[in-house]
Amino acid sequence: MKYLVLFGPPGSGKGTQSENIIKKYGYGHISTGDVLRAEMANKTELGKTAKDYIEKGQLVPDSLIIDMLAKTLDGFKEANGIIFDGFPRTTAQAVALKEMLKARGADVTVMLNLIVEEQELITRLLKRGETSGRSDDNLETIQKRLDTYNSQTAPVIDFYEKEGKLANIKGVGTIDGIFALVCKEIDAK
Ligand code: ADP
Repeated sequence: MKYLVLFGPPGSGKGTQSENIIKKYGYGHISTGDVLRAEMANKTELGKTAKDYIEKGQLVPDSLIIDMLAKTLDGFKEANGIIFDGFPRTTAQAVALKEMLKARGADVTVMLNLIVEEQELITRLLKRGETSGRSDDNLETIQKRLDTYNSQTAPVIDFYEKEGKLANIKGVGTIDGIFALVCKEIDAK
């Protein structure tokens, strides 16, 4: 059973590559962003709390995310593998994930780090905003999300590098071309 961390800044293509991985490998998929948007749509307590952070381009507090993730992870006992998409987003979340997987006798297999430069991210996210209906895909919030990424999320790369789990992938090019690089890393593990 492989545990993949699909990582990269907002707009780097995590969602797109996740879909391809699901199709080819049949892995379970946990996107904390999708779970939070579902909670928001259902107007749950968690959804209402999350909305304030998301619309400011900030991270939802670690304790809420870690609880949410633990519940979601329990639903995937039978999968061949799991893709974590948009999680961990802080070093504290990476440590919590390590503990959760250790309790299952497992560990992260590889972190797939999609690398895309900032101007390209802004272009992609603005374009997505034309159709996504996401309240955080506007220029002001995009810039805050990128700042949040740089200050709080990018350090997670060092965590996995020290664990010997980091695989950098150039996230620019055709979707199929990038997916080929993703598959190479998955198959090598
Ligand atoms: P993006 O396209 O920005 O990567 P996501 O759909 O993964 O978007 O997440 C949208 C928002 O949900 C983030 O900007 C953040 O506020 C919140 N969020 C998602 N995952 C996490 C997480 N693991 N920890 C904290 N906040 C999160």
